Amino acid sequence: MSRRPVLRISNPATLEPLDDVECALPEEVPGMVGTARKAQASWGRESPAKRSRLLRRVQDLLAERTDEFAELVSRETGKPLMESLATDVMNALSVGDFAVSRVEHVFRESKVDFGPLSSMMRYMGRSSHLVPRPLGVIGIIAPWNYPLAIPYSQVMMSLAAGNGVVLKPSSRTPLTALRMAEVFKDARLPEGLLQVAVGSGAKIGNALAASGVDRIIFTGQADVGRRIMVMASQRLTPMTMELGGKDAMIVLKDADLKRAARAACWGSFVNSGQTCVAVKRIYIDQSVEDIFVPLLLKEVSALKQGFDLDDPSVSLGAMISEGAVAEMENQLARALEQGAKVLTGGKRPDLKGHFFQPTVLRAEQHMDIVSNETFGPIVALLTFNSEEEAVKLANDSRFALNGSVWTSNAERGREMATSLRSGTITINNVAYTYGLGATPWGGRGESGFGRTHGDAGFEELMERQHVHLDRGKFPSEIWWHPYGQEGMEAMHDFTGLAFNGERDGLLQKLLKARRLMRR
Ligand code: NAD
Repeated sequence: MSRRPVLRISNPATLEPLDDVECALPEEVPGMVGTARKAQASWGRESPAKRSRLLRRVQDLLAERTDEFAELVSRETGKPLMESLATDVMNALSVGDFAVSRVEHVFRESKVDFGPLSSMMRYMGRSSHLVPRPLGVIGIIAPWNYPLAIPYSQVMMSLAAGNGVVLKPSSRTPLTALRMAEVFKDARLPEGLLQVAVGSGAKIGNALAASGVDRIIFTGQADVGRRIMVMASQRLTPMTMELGGKDAMIVLKDADLKRAARAACWGSFVNSGQTCVAVKRIYIDQSVEDIFVPLLLKEVSALKQGFDLDDPSVSLGAMISEGAVAEMENQLARALEQGAKVLTGGKRPDLKGHFFQPTVLRAEQHMDIVSNETFGPIVALLTFNSEEEAVKLANDSRFALNGSVWTSNAERGREMATSLRSGTITINNVAYTYGLGATPWGGRGESGFGRTHGDAGFEELMERQHVHLDRGKFPSEIWWHPYGQEGMEAMHDFTGLAFNGERDGLLQKLLKARRLMRR
């Protein structure tokens, strides 16, 4: 067997080493899937009520360990403790709560309504039911930016739906994932049901994508998603793709500009801008630009950047790596080359770790900084003259994950929302609905496809098997052998009657059909 690679994990804000973690080997991944499959065989047969009860224990244990997890997430990612609490632990618990509270409802058997064929089917003694069943084993390939919230919520939804899971956390944040798996173990979930495969994307991620799991939930960059889809296509493995974003925030002139400015600041710089649904493009009604921009810059100037778990006023943390900071420098240089203006920020601050200042740019729609994903603390400001123009500019993007409209007229906001191309539109709020477990999460275009969370999320983790019952009232069917003239006529009568409302000679037609079926 080959030697195991070791990941050296350190705090990106302080560069202090945290731990070394041994990786799995790619050749071990099929065995892990097999182990999860074995455990799933009995887990999937448990009633949803029992699964829910057992998973509630996981929730309770995680809730008891809130502070411990928040601290670990902060150390592993360099984000402020408040963000670990609010956007990792709380979101994890919130989606977990939805999963355990909702699964019994979603897993109800239902009877199919045959519509216009209903009375005919009843007469013939036939009925159809949809029987919910788990898929089997779900492969989850997770990113580093929310190292608890994302894998935990996807694991809870998958397990609640009766599946087993093999999770590949980001190789940048395996410590949180491994600690999370302990919670499932402590809650005494069946051994082997949740497996964590630590390692690089190229090796372990690839091995999982090719392993023949029953669905892959991938959260990450679009280009990596494309590669994984090619691997998954070999075994026709279905996928849910949660990819990047370039969220637009549209500020109309009747908006509460102070609240909008505070939201723009938080939405742009939460998690140091390393959030798929961070605000990246702010479209401002030109008539209020002079009021909104100073309000926003004032908010930004008050942000305290750094890393200190004992100082709750630190509001902006680190980026994940030196490469991520360098990428911000490159994107900014290109934006300046294309004519963008820095209103604030634009540099590395004088801090030890991987930091980049919160940066606000005045930009134009044609610039790369407005079209490409910027996974860091840079936000672009643009203006519009009419609402139609605002919608056009916001929709002019390869991404379509989240967006927001700011207005004091709720009806106008809702109307505008329906003309925006985006998985979610919030009116007068930003980037927080991940934590509303009952609402669907996902996008379209280069933001991916499929949904996690909500009932739509459950539907991707299960199948509704169709069971059709014929009570055998008749020995034959009109369309069974042997074929003949009488059968052809009866078939015409049947289609005319069922789909064309041809009711002339109804009784004779029915008697003929019955005779044929009693052959
Ligand atoms: P990434 O694509 O680099 O990595 C995501 C995961 O894929 C990691 O576990 C990584 O190890 C693995 N991976 C990398 N290469 C692989 C390969 N060839 N085969 C299989 N697996 C591979 O993304 P990241 O840097 O961890 O996360 C940031 C990205 O994720 C951003 O684009 C962000 O917008 C997106 N994101 C999206 C959502 C969402 O819900 N839509 C949420 C969070 C992050």
